[in-house]
Amino acid sequence: MRLRTFESFGLISNGILHSYPSLHDKNETCEITVVGGGITGALISYALVKKGYNVILVDKRDIGSGSTAATTSMLQYETDIPLYRLSGLIGEEGAVTCYKAGITAINKLAEIVKENNFDCGFEIKKSLYISLNEKDAQWLYEEFEIRNKYALGVKWLDAERVKSDYGINSHGAILSEAAATVDAYKLCHDLIAFNVSKGMKVYDQTEVKKFEMKEDFVTVHTESGCEINCQKIIFCTGYESKELLKEKTADLFYTYASVSECDIRLPEKLKDALVWDTGSPYFYMRYLNGRLLIGGEDSSYNHSAKVKERDRENLLAALNTRLPGVNFIEDFSWAGVFGSTKDSLPYIGYSPEYKNALFVLGYGGNGIIFSVQGMEIITDLLEGKQNELAKWYRFRR
Ligand SMILES: Cc1cc2nc3c(=O)[nH]c(=O)nc-3n(C[C@H](O)[C@H](O)[C@H](O)COP(=O)(O)OP(=O)(O)OC[C@H]3O[C@@H](n4cnc5c(N)ncnc54)[C@H](O)[C@@H]3O)c2cc1C
Repeated sequence: MRLRTFESFGLISNGILHSYPSLHDKNETCEITVVGGGITGALISYALVKKGYNVILVDKRDIGSGSTAATTSMLQYETDIPLYRLSGLIGEEGAVTCYKAGITAINKLAEIVKENNFDCGFEIKKSLYISLNEKDAQWLYEEFEIRNKYALGVKWLDAERVKSDYGINSHGAILSEAAATVDAYKLCHDLIAFNVSKGMKVYDQTEVKKFEMKEDFVTVHTESGCEINCQKIIFCTGYESKELLKEKTADLFYTYASVSECDIRLPEKLKDALVWDTGSPYFYMRYLNGRLLIGGEDSSYNHSAKVKERDRENLLAALNTRLPGVNFIEDFSWAGVFGSTKDSLPYIGYSPEYKNALFVLGYGGNGIIFSVQGMEIITDLLEGKQNELAKWYRFRR
C-alpha cells in the first residue's frame, strides 16, 4: 500500500528551501507582474530586475514546486525535433538559428551561475544521441552531417566506440560538446532570492484568478480578493497555461523518471554525458551524484495509476536493453506532466488573445533552455526591439 504519492528526487533532496508571504490583505502596484515562480518565472524576473523593472512575482503554490520540482534538468541545445526535420518545417536558416540559440543559452546560464556564485550543481557535460537501430542510424548520420555543416561541435561515434566508451548498445551516435546539468529547483530558489535582494516582491500561495486588460494597464485579481495594478503581466505558468489560452499550443501527457540508489557503477565517460536516443518517446539517462537518473516512457495524461505503474516498469526494461548488466536499484521514481508542441519549439511573446500580456511557455525536453532564451526575447519585446527568435516562437505560427 502506497500511503503517499511519488515525489520527485529534486524536491526530496532539497526540501522546501524558502517560503514567502501570501498576498491576502492589501493591494499592490508595480510595473510588471510575473505569474509563476518556477524556473521560467525565476529566470524572466531575473532578466527584468537586471533591467531595472519594478516586479512582483506571484505563485499559487510554493516557489519551484510545479514542474520545476519534477524536472530531470538536462540542458541541451538540441530540440526534441532533429535539426534536419526542423529545417523541413521552418527552413534551414530558422532551424539553425534555433539550434545555435540553444548553445548560447547554455553558455548564458553558465555565466549567470558563475557571476552570482549560485550553488546549484551546474555542470558542463556532453550530450550523446544514440540510434536504436540501423534505420535510425541512417537519419541520425544525416543529422550529424547537417549539424557538422553548421559547426555545432559534433562528432560521429560508431557502435563499437559507443560500446567501449559508454557501455551502451547502439547503432552509432552523435556526441555533442554543448550540454550541461543543473539542480533547477535550487537554481529557481537562488534566482528568486537574488531578485528579492534587489527589491522584487514575491507572494507564494497566491493564485491569480482573473485579470482585466485595460488600454495601458492590467488589473490582476487574486483568489484572496486582492488586486495588483501593473503595466504588463507575464505568464510563466507552465503547462497550466493551457487553461488561459484558446489557441492550442501543446499536447500534454505524462512522463516518468527514476533514480537509482547511490554508488552505481558506470563507465567513467558515461558520468560525463547526457544520453538520449532515437526512440519515440525517447529514453534518456544521466549521472547524478553517485546515482543514475533515467527517464522517458511518456503516456496519456488520463491513464490510470495501474497503467502508469506499468510505464514505470517499462522504463527499467528500456535501461537494461541499452545498458545491459547495470546494477540499477530504484530509490525514487515519479511522473510529471509534460507538453510538446507541433514543431517542438516554445511559445514566447505577446499572445494576440490578450493586451499587455506576454507568455513564456518553454514546452518540451528543452523547457529550461527555452526559458533562458525567453529572458532576452521578453526584455527585447518590452523595449520594442526586434528579436531574431521571437518570430520562430510566436503565437499563431
Ligand atoms: C519528469 C520530467 C522531466 C523533465 N526533464 C527536463 C529536462 O531534462 N530538461 C528540461 O529543460 N526540461 C525538462 N522538463 C520540463 C521542465 O520541467 C519544464 O520545462 C520546466 O520545469 C517548466 O518550468 P516553468 O517555470 O515554466 O513551470 P512550473 O515549474 O510548473 O512553474 C509554473 C508555476 O506557475 C504557477 N501558476 C500556474 N497558474 C497560476 C495562477 N493562476 N496563479 C498563480 N500561479 C500560477 C504554478 O503554481 C507553478 O509553480 C521535464 C519535465 C518533467 C515532468
